[in-house]
Amino acid sequence: MTLPLETIIGLEVHAQMSTRTKMFCGCDNDAFGKAANTTICPICTGHPGTLPTPNEEAIRTAIRTSLALGCTIRKECHFDRKHYFYPDLPYGFQISQYDFPLAEHGELKFDIHNHSGNILHESTCRITRLHMENDAGKLTHRGSTTLCDYNRAGTPLMEIVTEPDLRSAQEAVAFAQELRRILIALDASQADMFKGMMRFDASISLRENGTEKLNPRSEIKNLNSFKSLEKALQYEEKRLVALWKECKGPLPHNITVGWLDDEEKTKILREKEEAQDYRYFPEPDIPPLYFSQKDIDEIKSRLPSLPRERQQQYISLGLNEKQAQQLIDQPKLCVMFDAVYKKTNDAKRAASLVLTQLLGFLNTQEKSVHDGPDATALLELIEQIDNGTISAHAGKEVLEAMTQTGKSASVLIEEKGLRQISDDRIIDDLVQKAIQENPKAVGAYKNGKKQALGAIVGWVMKKSKGQANPEKVNAILKKELQQ
Ligand SMILES: [Zn+2]
Repeated sequence: MTLPLETIIGLEVHAQMSTRTKMFCGCDNDAFGKAANTTICPICTGHPGTLPTPNEEAIRTAIRTSLALGCTIRKECHFDRKHYFYPDLPYGFQISQYDFPLAEHGELKFDIHNHSGNILHESTCRITRLHMENDAGKLTHRGSTTLCDYNRAGTPLMEIVTEPDLRSAQEAVAFAQELRRILIALDASQADMFKGMMRFDASISLRENGTEKLNPRSEIKNLNSFKSLEKALQYEEKRLVALWKECKGPLPHNITVGWLDDEEKTKILREKEEAQDYRYFPEPDIPPLYFSQKDIDEIKSRLPSLPRERQQQYISLGLNEKQAQQLIDQPKLCVMFDAVYKKTNDAKRAASLVLTQLLGFLNTQEKSVHDGPDATALLELIEQIDNGTISAHAGKEVLEAMTQTGKSASVLIEEKGLRQISDDRIIDDLVQKAIQENPKAVGAYKNGKKQALGAIVGWVMKKSKGQANPEKVNAILKKELQQ
């Protein structure tokens, strides 16, 4: 009898660190979009006789990330050479960390959501280790020619390896999304998948439900979006289930496969690959790194609050789960919400302004949050509403124009002539005219039909093109009609 099968998934995540310079030299680490081979030097291109110098900023970034993932920082860590040949790897080896990694034994908690964005349940995945290494260059194939760009060579990477704790493609994606939020919140990586700043290798195997032993796995290499991570795992899971039925059991040995994005299927790259194939040995040019508890505690004390913690804070302010999620998914929205909330002490108003109005206008124009106004610009708009310069209604119009033009609230208020009329004499005149022009409504109001007042106020608002301060119109009109 065969038991139902259980899917076992583990991830290796590569994240490019947001440092100013590369891992072992002073070259610019922001090479994306720059002309090929312009951000390189003899060190990152592996010239003989050059020496690598570890980047302190990168080490601190990796420690910060490790601590946020609940890892223990080793008191001593080493760099090692991992040998393989590929034309984009000028050293002939990668400088990585093998048996003395920077950090180990962490844990990441994340939420599983339903389709409408509500939290279904919490899940946990243990982190095996986090280590530092440098990236390789990039090859571009054009017909029979291959071009090599070393700009990316030497870029500092963190490799985050999980235990095989994930049980479905959906869980793997939810884990990866939470990890990405943390990397961004820590300012450890921009984790821009389009630029290849966050990439995944996913290992998947099957076992009979209730059994403990791990079977040989299929490792899917180089997935560079959440979508391909999910699709590749779903595809490989189906394939392994079919193979299990056919062969009455698991894979005979580990395999490495690639994901073909266009064809939406995997392809076998290598059978059996073991660590000894890389002939790891200690990097002789970089001495071991030692960390004191004092250094680690100091870095720990300065960690920002993490996304799930912030999500809870937003929910406790009265936001729903989806709104809180929207905020933590985009740190720029968080900054704006926090600024508006601090000024107004009104979470509902801040959520409506940032998530409903601002995001709504940006989405209609197919723009990203980064194309829209910043927190300072929003605060200026609020100031203009709160000091009575414009009405809340006009505020919406101004915000829409801010997203379209990038101009400030005060400039747009003048350009559009939206300044609210609060001058008593002007409003008084308008009210007198309204009384003369609307005898029926005035009569009805005096006979006790209180709602007739609305029609008269409406007339004033129309005459003033919406610029009269409605509260003042109301007050003055009531006073006049009582006489
Ligand atoms: Zn360099």
